[in-house]
Amino acid sequence: MAKQLLGKEVTKALNDKIKDQVSALHQRGIDPTLAFIRVGERQDDISYERGAVKRCETLGVSYKKYLLPGDCTQQELMDTIADVNEDDNIHGVLMFRPLPKHLDEEAVVAALRPEKDVDGITEGSMFGVFAGTDEGFPPCTPQACMEILDHYGIDCTGKKAVVVGRSLVVGKPAAMMLLKKNATVTVCHTRTKDMPSVVKEADIVIVAAGRAGVVDGSYLSRGQVVIDVGINVNEEGKLCGDVNYDEAEKIVDMITPVPGGVGSVTTSVLVGHVVEAALRTLD
Ligand code: NAP
Repeated sequence: MAKQLLGKEVTKALNDKIKDQVSALHQRGIDPTLAFIRVGERQDDISYERGAVKRCETLGVSYKKYLLPGDCTQQELMDTIADVNEDDNIHGVLMFRPLPKHLDEEAVVAALRPEKDVDGITEGSMFGVFAGTDEGFPPCTPQACMEILDHYGIDCTGKKAVVVGRSLVVGKPAAMMLLKKNATVTVCHTRTKDMPSVVKEADIVIVAAGRAGVVDGSYLSRGQVVIDVGINVNEEGKLCGDVNYDEAEKIVDMITPVPGGVGSVTTSVLVGHVVEAALRTLD
């Protein structure tokens, strides 16, 4: 039976560190603050916002909501970005995406200052991930995967790592982060040939395909560490990952459950970035 890599254990350690940093900032008269920018009323956005608000409150981080109607104009949204960019009391910005189709998302993202980009969506943040510099912030989900590996003492040096998925938010940055940890990295996608044998060869597998149970027992081998990023709803209406957990847990060494794995760590990483952004203003 595989060991479960539990998000709540990682979150607890991260939260303890964040709380210490927040009280140090408060002592210096700085109130770390996250701005939420939400256009419209998408249920996914609202539920992620609710979780992030709760985490902010638990950790003593302030927040401010900028809520725009679903039919807002490009200018209204650009003005909001200008406001948060200029406001020295706002340290981090989370803007829910995708934006409604009538808005030019690229232009909006380009207007956001990378030092406030705690969700890792700007070109500056991406450059930071790819060049290994501190510009901006890495996207929260792949960083949550790295936090899990670090927390459980999983050394990536010299290991074979496979990432399933090549999106800009998860797959590609996860691959770069594993590379930075000295793993030898392969990225799989829908055109990969014979994916089971590629995944089987890995020591560490990160799955971010967005397809329930796409990685089943036939892709896995003994000794592997599996991080399942997927969040899907199965036929019975239950949350499930991209990995077939029941088959995987009988084969691999360690695995993150869904729910209870990457998701909760992601929110703490986000709040941690806000605190880090506030700390950087002291430099
Ligand atoms: P995405 O933009 O849809 O990208 C999915 C990637 O997986 C694509 O690169 C796609 O390949 C690849 N893929 C899809 N089906 C595949 C298959 N059968 N075999 C091999 N590769 C396949 O999704 P995403 O935004 O990266 O999200 C991935 C998953 O993570 C989703 O379930 C999402 O809900 C979840 N997620 C979780 C968190 C969290 O905090 N836990 C945060 C963000 C996302 P192509 O490029 O060839 O199309």
